[in-house]
Amino acid sequence: MNIHEYQAKALLKSYGAPVAEGVAIFSADEAEAAAKKLPGPLYVVKSQIHAGGRGKGKFKELGPDAKGGVRLAKSVEEVVSNAREMLGNTLVTKQTGPAGKQVNRLYIEDGADIDRELYLSILVDRSVGRVAFVVSTEGGMDIEAVAEHTPEKIVTVAIDPDKGVTAQDLKTLADALKLEGEARADAEKLFPILYKAFVEKDMSLLEVNPLIVMKNGRMRVLDAKVSFDGNALFRHEDVVALRDKTEEDEKEIEASKYDLAYVALDGNIGCMVNGAGLAMATMDIIKLYGAEPANFLDVGGGASKEKVTHAFKIITADPAVKGILVNIFGGIMKCDVIAEGVLAAVKEVGLKVPLVVRLEGTNVELGKKIINESGLNVISADDLDDAAQKIVAAVKGA
Ligand code: GDP
Ligand code: MG
Repeated sequence: MNIHEYQAKALLKSYGAPVAEGVAIFSADEAEAAAKKLPGPLYVVKSQIHAGGRGKGKFKELGPDAKGGVRLAKSVEEVVSNAREMLGNTLVTKQTGPAGKQVNRLYIEDGADIDRELYLSILVDRSVGRVAFVVSTEGGMDIEAVAEHTPEKIVTVAIDPDKGVTAQDLKTLADALKLEGEARADAEKLFPILYKAFVEKDMSLLEVNPLIVMKNGRMRVLDAKVSFDGNALFRHEDVVALRDKTEEDEKEIEASKYDLAYVALDGNIGCMVNGAGLAMATMDIIKLYGAEPANFLDVGGGASKEKVTHAFKIITADPAVKGILVNIFGGIMKCDVIAEGVLAAVKEVGLKVPLVVRLEGTNVELGKKIINESGLNVISADDLDDAAQKIVAAVKGA
């Protein structure tokens, strides 16, 4: 689960991290009062969407010459005029995809005089099985580009969970960022704070890009992107309360109600599969035969008929879906349960696109019988390869 920048900053501030004063607003009428609460004379008006690259982003409605999604303002009036221009419009950034995201919230912040922009993130480094800091002197820009062109400028420090952030870790990080004086002292306080927040709140990513050294020599968290581990949300009611469902895919919200592992994708073949590994393999093989999956969907090992019905409904509700592939290996899951779930869903919502079903495993004969006797226009397949070829052909022919 992701949260907005202003929420992330409030959370980090509660741990003692240095962030600017700021006020979140939902309508342009609130802009003047918000700006007047800040010291000035420099303000920043920041679009709050769950995507990065806002500064370089463009508003669809405003044309290519308009300013981006993060704007500096030198007076209260400028804050207000920028807020009026930005709110309600659609910001397209490198991370939003061409559709962009509507800006419904702004964060009005006290502006900083920046000396240096650095990069810092904390993540779970699976290669070493530890939480790790990733830092670079090349902040404020696209870290993927830095990783590609100048990987030597990125330093990773894995943290020993028993020891926490050690003096040696702090030295390595501060040296990598070429920090001196007060900025270095600020950093030595800040890094353990960020680590504590990451671990206590079960974050999966904490990215500060940029972390800045200001002209006055002090450090500040200038941008903050935080993702939480969905499996740990049950123990963080305060975090769940920050959820902004308008930022999430409706189908994904619906799927999460039924505990389905669902991720919406850009293709046109809807997939219903059991087991994450088989779901990945199914997506791969669809691509191999020249088409694109519309989703990742793992109904789980022991799904009920109801769960299968809901899963099928979510897939068919997606107008992009031009064909459906049901690919089930019945281990714990029984093929007849899947068959009944599919039939129940089809009875409710109808079937307007080709459907290929591949069943294998427990009660496979019964499952096939249920489908064959249903009178439905189902194309049956014998194995994964056959199934993928059949659904790709059906979609391309349609
Ligand atoms: P992003 O584009 O979505 O990553 O948004 P950021 O919060 O990182 O802001 C983008 C850029 O705007 C930063 O890299 C800075 O260069 C600039 N910026 C943001 N806040 C301030 C500020 O307080 N003062 C100044 N001078 N520039 C800022
Ligand atoms: Mg940024």
